[in-house]
Parts: sequence; C-alpha cells; structure tokens
Amino acid sequence: MVITFPNMGNVALAMQTLCQSLKIPYVLPGRNNKATLQIGSYYSPEEICLPFKLVLGNFIQSIEKGADTLLITGSCGPCRFGEYCELLMKILSKLGYNNLDFIVADLSSEIGIKEFMRRMSRISAASPISRSDKIKALYTAFKVVELCDKIDAMAYHLAGYETNKGECKQVLNEYKTKAFECKNPEEMMRLLDFYKKYFENISTNNNKDPLKISIIGEIFTIIEPFSNFYIEEKLMDYGVSTRRTLSPSWWVKNLILKPIKMDSKDINRAAGEYMPYAVGGHGRECVGEAVLAKGYGMDGAIQIYPLGCMPEVIAKSILPAIQRDKDFPIMTLIVDEVAGEAGYITRVEAFLDMLQSKKRHLKVQEPLVSRPVTVRCLGNHN
Ligand code: SF4
Repeated sequence: MVITFPNMGNVALAMQTLCQSLKIPYVLPGRNNKATLQIGSYYSPEEICLPFKLVLGNFIQSIEKGADTLLITGSCGPCRFGEYCELLMKILSKLGYNNLDFIVADLSSEIGIKEFMRRMSRISAASPISRSDKIKALYTAFKVVELCDKIDAMAYHLAGYETNKGECKQVLNEYKTKAFECKNPEEMMRLLDFYKKYFENISTNNNKDPLKISIIGEIFTIIEPFSNFYIEEKLMDYGVSTRRTLSPSWWVKNLILKPIKMDSKDINRAAGEYMPYAVGGHGRECVGEAVLAKGYGMDGAIQIYPLGCMPEVIAKSILPAIQRDKDFPIMTLIVDEVAGEAGYITRVEAFLDMLQSKKRHLKVQEPLVSRPVTVRCLGNHN
C-alpha cells in the first residue's frame, strides 16, 4: 500500500504525520499549483466545482509518483460532494488507472460505525505498530493540525499589529516550508511548538487599529490558499487582520460533535433567523459567521466560494439582508479555474478602501456622541 490524500491546507501536514507515525508508505501531494489545476480541469466535467478539479489533479500527480491507495472523505449530503468519490473512481478508471484502492472516510452517522471501522482498518492493517501506538498516532496527527491552525490564526491576526512590516507573512511561509520537510512526528511537534511560541512573542504595536475582516464561505476554498489566490496572505500585505473560524481542526471537532447534535451550536443559532435549515456544505455556517462577525469586532467579511457551489449560492442570496440589518459590509468572491487574479485583487482593494473610509467616518462621528454630556455639564453650572 502506498497511500495518498488530497492537499487541503493543513490537512496534508496532519496526514504526513499520521503516515510517518503509522510507518506506512505515502506520497505527499505537492502544493496545489497551476499544473495541478490544469490536469484536474482537463479531465473533470466542466460544471463540477473547483475543489473536485484540484483533488483530481492531486490524485493524478500522486498516482504518477507511485501511489496506489487514495484516501478521500465522502458524504451523502445534498451537494456535489456526495458524488465526488464515484466520479473520481470513474474518471481515473477511464484514464487507465485500474489498480487503485479507494478508502472513503464517510461520516460514521451515515454509513454506520461498523462500516466506518472496517474502512479505517484497511489503513491500520498496513501499519506494523501496536494498537496503542496507532491511537497515539491519530492523536498526534490531530495535535499537528490543531497547532498548525492555531499558528496560522495567530499570524493572520497579528499581521495587522506587527511592528516589523511583513514579519508575520515571512515567518508563516518559513514554518510551512519547514513543516513539509519534517521527517518524523517528534520533529514536527518541536517545529510547531517553536513557531507557536514565536508568534506568541512577536513584536506588535497594540496602538494600531487595522481593518479586521472575517473570511467566510465554502470550506475547501477558504482553507486551501491556492484556490482563493492566497487571499489571507494578500490581506497581510495590506496590514489587514483576518479571522477565519472554519479550519481542518474545527471540521474534525465538529464531526465528532455531530452525532450528539452539538456541532456548530453558536454558529447555527446565529444563522437561525436567516437560515433555519442546513442546505449542504457549510452554507449555514457561512450565514452564521456573517451574523456573528460584527460582534467579533470585524469591520467586514469576505465570502469566497467556487463557481456553482449550491450551498454558498443560497448563503450569498441571504448575505445582503444581513449586510442591511447589521450595517455590516460583506463582499463575495467567486473562484474557478478561469478567474483572473488581477480582477480579483482590484475588487479586494476597492472593498478595503470602502471599509477604511467607513471606519474613518465612524471615528469622526465618535466625538459627536459625547456632545450631549458636555451640554449637560454646562447646564449644571447654570
Ligand atoms: S460545498 Fe460547494 S464546492 Fe464543496 S462540494 Fe459542495 S457544491 Fe462543491
């Protein structure tokens, strides 16, 4: 067995650690790039969403490097994600890759815990380590993805306050490059601990009042930087502080809480007024996050999703109402393989300009709010 998996943000680092701990051979998918997208788009149905094209591109590249077992998450959900696995199998078979083994990690609530364990045991059987070490390996992989998500969140937030311009982005890229070079889980944990402490102690200027933006939308597109033109890093260049709730570790925790209906409680509650039912993907989470963002102190939100993404199209139709009701600016960016980066940047810059002038305008208004207090004082002297 030579296993491979899609490259989705920090998921690849967790899977790398898991395979190293389990001592099973693996092919680490390369970072997504134009070639990955071109290959995936060429062999995909035209109307399928961008994540599918990148996953297919990843798999073809990894199979060419020797992978024969493909691990993918599945779903019976209402959007195209439910079709991903069947479609991947058919396309890869048509391309002549016939000796592949697919392991589909469907939700245990949908396929039953027994079937879920049977599927996972196919990976476990290929590992020579003891049962207790396998459990430890799973735990370590989760710790890795959780730490990576934490470090990313600190870097994106602190970019708005950094004393040395560009430091957060430079250190973020440095740690990612080094993490992909780690040879074992111990090395990975040491590296992540080091960078977590680095960001905890980075020099900041808390007198700054940067623009703060929430990144919301379809989960693959917002956690995989290539598919969103590295928006969080671009915003770091502008000195913007960003916040994103959806992450791979959030997704895992949510999945565990789903059977007891404790998943995304606060987000779903916030979305309730506008979207009381789940519509597939993370459409409801997008709406809930938009409602909550102002309370988090954000100046605006950017929704990102792939062209034709059904749950996000529904969420998008609701966002103008939230924008109006909460007086909270929200911009939508739709990405696909033909989206041009220049047009995308122009829109982001225009949105930042608008947020900045709104912020300035609110600051100018602040002294007016205190005027009645002054008048009352004068009145008392009389
Ligand atoms: S959530 Fe959207 S992008 Fe993701 S699989 Fe479903 S339709 Fe495609």
